[in-house]
Amino acid sequence: MEKLVSLCRRRGFIFPSSEIYGGLSSCWDYGPLGVELKKNIKQAWWRAVVQQRADMVGLDASIIMHPRVWEASGHLESFTDPLVECKNCHQRWKADDLTENKCPSCGGELTDERQFNMMFKTFMGPVEEAANVVYLRPETAQGMFVNFQNVVNTTRKRLPFGIAQIGKSFRNEITTGNFIFRSREFEQMEIEYFVKPGTDGEWFDYWLEARLNWYTKLGIKQENLKLREHGKEELSHYSRRTVDINYLFPMGWAELEGIANRGEFDLAQHSKHSGKSLEYHDNDTNENYLPYIIEPSAGVDRSTLAFLCDAYDEETVVGELRVLFHFDPALAPYKISVLPLSKKENLTALAKDIHTELCQHWMVEFDITQSIGRRYRRQDEIGTPFCVTVDFDSLEDNQVTIRERDTMNQIRVPIAELKNTLQAKLAGEDLFVLPPGGKIWKVEKESAT
Ligand code: ATP
Repeated sequence: MEKLVSLCRRRGFIFPSSEIYGGLSSCWDYGPLGVELKKNIKQAWWRAVVQQRADMVGLDASIIMHPRVWEASGHLESFTDPLVECKNCHQRWKADDLTENKCPSCGGELTDERQFNMMFKTFMGPVEEAANVVYLRPETAQGMFVNFQNVVNTTRKRLPFGIAQIGKSFRNEITTGNFIFRSREFEQMEIEYFVKPGTDGEWFDYWLEARLNWYTKLGIKQENLKLREHGKEELSHYSRRTVDINYLFPMGWAELEGIANRGEFDLAQHSKHSGKSLEYHDNDTNENYLPYIIEPSAGVDRSTLAFLCDAYDEETVVGELRVLFHFDPALAPYKISVLPLSKKENLTALAKDIHTELCQHWMVEFDITQSIGRRYRRQDEIGTPFCVTVDFDSLEDNQVTIRERDTMNQIRVPIAELKNTLQAKLAGEDLFVLPPGGKIWKVEKESAT
């Protein structure tokens, strides 16, 4: 983890927040590369769960919601106990229930007791009084529950269908840590999938598989993912069944995403507290009922950490350490880097033209400093799948080389074929499938100098 944190900082993926003031505990800023990686993860999720499906729609609800939402959801009631947390196993305990000042589960040391509400509280408007208290949402889910009727009425979606949302959530966690794994401000990607009661079991299984496949399709190794079924005693108050998708992070197995069968709990609670019926009219059976909800809830930051960990690799090439991220091209911050072999003006002019053209389609880096070997390594280290090198022959033959990150193999292609060739390679075509006029260029491992 230390290596990863240091690389992320050095190359501009993730910085400690407010670093020039000494940082702010557990808050992180995504730098120029991190913002691209995170955006690509969110985009890949949105494409898979909204864009490529007829039964899903998106939503972007407000972070600050009516305070009664949190009454109905159970958050106000559930999170106002004096809490202590075990510093060893991180289980949280209601201080009132403890007879000894040690963790009942593992005997570990406990944090100091505090009147603890996981929700961040603030005031709406200029007067700081109880009537104006509002909360920063601790999950994006409630925005989707309270908009259920709005979505049904405006989209005319019929069951089963779902709503998806990506957004910031805030939890005043007692303990944070492990880099971006647990912070107080984080981003979630949540789905609330509404189904007819009785079909919830099969939809639960369906989403569990779909979500697992999403991670593996984007490159997470199967052996680093594991399911963990919650025991009856640990189920949240709203849940009929919960299965966590756990990932083998550097500090051990931990939750990446949770899939819960929330039954009718949320719609029933919001109907009760708002006085508005949230029943669904089933045209097929002419019945009114509250749909059950299957919720796959993922963390953007935890996914980012998992993709970083899984893609990280080190190997020795020609006696030197090569560090690289094997990011799936869909996630890589830069897809391509254009590298003129030298700083000679006529070469850089051609390279800049190529860069300008490719920028219309992808995030493309332009790097002119240091030897070509060093520049390849710099791109490997940030996970750029392909480098395009413009050399002196390019000025004569109008061809450039494409170098593949994972194999370091190179092909040479006409500039006129470059865009289409890169498009095919980024979509997974083998490097040695050549465009017209293309040839295999180099297959030996290059040195870093
Ligand atoms: P944990 O047990 O690790 O605290 P949780 O079970 O409370 O997580 P959920 O309420 O199920 O988490 O939230 C769904 C997802 O949101 C989690 O799987 C995780 O990816 C993400 N998440 C939750 N809390 C945090 C946090 N403090 N920092 C970063 N991501 C978080």
